[in-house]
Amino acid sequence: MADVVVIGGGIVGVSTAWFLAKQGVSVVLCEKGHIAGEQSGRNWGWVRIQGRDAREIPMMQESLRIWSGLRDEIGEDVGFTRGGCFFTASSEKQLEAFGTWVNTAKEFAIGTRLLSAAELRQHVRGAAVEWAGALYTETDGRAEPHKAAPAIARAAARSGAAVLTSCAVRGVETSGGRVSAVVTEHGTIKTAVVLCAAGAWTSLFCGSLDINVPQLKVRGTVARTAPAEQVLNGNVFDDRLGIRRREDGGYSIAHGSVLEHPVTPSSFRYFVKFIPALMQELKVVRLSFGREFLDEWQTPRSWALDKPSPFEATRVLNPAPNPRVLKGIRRNLDTIFPQLANIPIVESWAGMIESSPDVVPVIDAVDSLPGFHIATGFSGHGFGIGPGAGTAIAGMLTGKDSGIDISAFRLGRFFDGSPIRPQASI
Ligand SMILES: Cc1cc2nc3c(=O)[nH]c(=O)nc-3n(C[C@H](O)[C@H](O)[C@H](O)COP(=O)(O)OP(=O)(O)OC[C@H]3O[C@@H](n4cnc5c(N)ncnc54)[C@H](O)[C@@H]3O)c2cc1C
Repeated sequence: MADVVVIGGGIVGVSTAWFLAKQGVSVVLCEKGHIAGEQSGRNWGWVRIQGRDAREIPMMQESLRIWSGLRDEIGEDVGFTRGGCFFTASSEKQLEAFGTWVNTAKEFAIGTRLLSAAELRQHVRGAAVEWAGALYTETDGRAEPHKAAPAIARAAARSGAAVLTSCAVRGVETSGGRVSAVVTEHGTIKTAVVLCAAGAWTSLFCGSLDINVPQLKVRGTVARTAPAEQVLNGNVFDDRLGIRRREDGGYSIAHGSVLEHPVTPSSFRYFVKFIPALMQELKVVRLSFGREFLDEWQTPRSWALDKPSPFEATRVLNPAPNPRVLKGIRRNLDTIFPQLANIPIVESWAGMIESSPDVVPVIDAVDSLPGFHIATGFSGHGFGIGPGAGTAIAGMLTGKDSGIDISAFRLGRFFDGSPIRPQASI
C-alpha cells in the first residue's frame, strides 16, 4: 500500500518520488528495467534554459536552482557544473534571429545575450569555422546523465521511498470509477494516486486505459570521446555538432541536425497533430523505415494483467546508434575542432526521444480516471528540467502549491481545438 505509485525511473519519476518522500508521502516507484536505463541515462547532459518555450521557463528556473544545490542536498555528485550554453550563428541573419529569444529571456530576468564572433572565440578556442557569434547564457550548465537520476533515486530511497527495479507495471485497478491499485509483474500495490512517468512508453500504457496521449519517437545517436584538450567548457550547438565538456575530460558529441523518426503505426495515428512540429523540424528529422513498424504493429494495445505485458518484453529500450550518423559526427568534430581530430571516440549509443505535438510536456491529472496522472512528452529537453518538473508534479499529486503553474501542460490542449504551436525545437 502506498499514498502514491510512480511508474518509471527516469529523471522525472525519481525527482517526483524524491520530493514526495521528503514531504513524508509514502511512495513506491516501479521501474521495468534499471534507473535511467532509457532517455535519462542516454542524453547529451545539457541543463539549459536557453532557447526553451516560454511555458517551460518558470519550471526550468526552479530546476536550475535545484541542480545547483543538489550535490550538497543529496550528498552525491551528479556532475552538475555551469559552463554556459552557446548556440552558434553561421550568419549575421541567424545571429539577429536569436535576438527574439534574448527578449524572452529579459522578460524572465535571465541574463542571456548575444556574443560577437570575437567574444565567442574567447570561450570556444581553436574552432576552424567563422561563426558570426552566438546566443549565450552563462548560467546554463550540464550534468552527467549516468549519475544524476540514479543518485536522485538513492536520495528518494533514503527519504523513505521504495524504489523497485525490474518491476514492470502492467496496469491499474479501479474501484468506484477511480484508481485503487497498480498491478505489477510482482504483485498488486494498493494506492489511490498513480503517476505515469513512463517516457516513450506512456502512450502505450495510457492507451491500454483508454487515455489518448499523442506521442511520437525520434532516435538520437550520441558518442563520447576519450579525455582531450579543453577547447570549451560548456555546451556548444552548431547546426552540424552538439558538443559538451564531460566530467571525465572527454566530450559528449552528437550531430547538430539529424534526428531519425522510425515510421510506425503511431506516425499515421498522430500525423495530423504532429504536422506543426514536423514542419518546424523538417530540416532535422529524417524518416527511417525499419523493424520498428512491425514491432509496434505486433505489440498488443491491451493485455491481461495476470500475464507478462509489453513492458516486460522490452526491459530497456536500447536502439542501435546509426553508423552513418556516427561518421557524420566524427567528420563534423574534425572539421570544426581540428585539434580534436586524433581523439578517439570510445563509446557510442542511441536514445529514443519521445515528443509531444507542441514539444512541451504533458503534466496533468486525467479527468476520465480520477487518481491517474501523467508526466510525459519532455520532447528532447527533459533532463535539465527534470528536478523542477519533479517538484511541480509532487505539488500536483499532493494538492500543495509548488509555486509553478502547470496549467499550460494539460493533456486536453491537444483535443479541445487549442492551436498546437511548437515554440522550441526537440
Ligand atoms: C539522445 C538524447 C539526447 C538528449 N539530450 C538532452 C539534453 O541534453 N538535455 C535535456 O534536458 N534533455 C535531453 N534529452 C531528453 C531527456 O533525456 C528526456 O526528456 C528525459 O530524460 C525524460 O525523462 P523521463 O523520466 O520522462 O523518461 P525516461 O528517462 O525515458 O524514463 C521513463 C522510464 O519509465 C520506464 N517505464 C516505462 N513503462 C514502464 C512500466 N509500465 N513499468 C515500469 N517502468 C516503466 C522506462 O523503462 C524508463 O526507464 C535527450 C534525450 C535523448 C534520447
